Amino acid sequence: MSIRSKVIWMDGEFVPYDQANIHVLSHTLHYGLGVFEGIRSYKQVGGGGAVFRLGEHIDRLLDSAKMCMLKVPYSYEELFQACVDTLQKNELEEAYIRPLIFLGEGAMGLGARNNPVHVIIAVWNWGAYLGDEGLQQGVRVATSSFTRHAVNANLQRAKVTGHYVNSILARYEANDNGFDEAIMLDHNGYVAEGTGENLFVIRGKTIKTPAITNILGGITRRTAIEILQHNGHEVIETQFGRDALYVADEVFMTGTAAEVTPVREVDRREVGPPGPVTRMTQDVYLRGVRGEIEWMKPLLTTY
Ligand code: PMP
Repeated sequence: MSIRSKVIWMDGEFVPYDQANIHVLSHTLHYGLGVFEGIRSYKQVGGGGAVFRLGEHIDRLLDSAKMCMLKVPYSYEELFQACVDTLQKNELEEAYIRPLIFLGEGAMGLGARNNPVHVIIAVWNWGAYLGDEGLQQGVRVATSSFTRHAVNANLQRAKVTGHYVNSILARYEANDNGFDEAIMLDHNGYVAEGTGENLFVIRGKTIKTPAITNILGGITRRTAIEILQHNGHEVIETQFGRDALYVADEVFMTGTAAEVTPVREVDRREVGPPGPVTRMTQDVYLRGVRGEIEWMKPLLTTY
């Protein structure tokens, strides 16, 4: 699988893949103040492609930019259309879409405010984020020794490039220890999220997910809650420790990249193969994004 595409949308124009370059003194490259999104489009059962919850992703992108005081030179409508145009130009019916807003070259100090704000949109084909086997059989995860940013250490509600250093360190550690993904605890020791996923835990009839305090308000998380509610389940947004995962009947993670990924083992305690609630949520999600679930159809932007 390659991230190469024909063209990348760069500041309003389509640029051939190999020419979509930036200056080495771009501010964001040094300090990590940039904001981005991860969006997916899927081949539809009725033909063509469609982007899932595009409007909500553009809203979150602009919210992230606002929180970071990045003045975006494009409107919601322009960015929305640019995502669709980039997919069409690259003739991709199924793709991962990556808009990124970053500060370019100019002043180098941390107080720089007048550097140009650049926007790019890239698209590529990205399969199962945690592997096909992970999506089918479930992944093995471990609690990280790295703590998620405390509420007042960062703007966790924003999808900021620099935040991901914390995630990458946790992911490297988990992978080096033989696990697929890390579970991050917050500064009080409560379960926060994965490095790029939200998390759900099921025991008996109780389904819990961490409240949005210092985690990213995942769009797939919201979708999973809606799917569960549509199917008669109640979801409680609350705090819980890692012990809730150790005695869970089912655990799953959600993310645009990870979709709905079952968790089969936490810190060497077996959770077991994907259970009925996880299977149902995953099945509805993967069919819904492809236009097979009636109530989810309005969430799709066809092209
Ligand atoms: N948490 C983090 C830290 C993430 O990076 C992501 C991926 N964007 C998520 C949760 C899941 O969010 P979404 O479902 O909107 O992709």
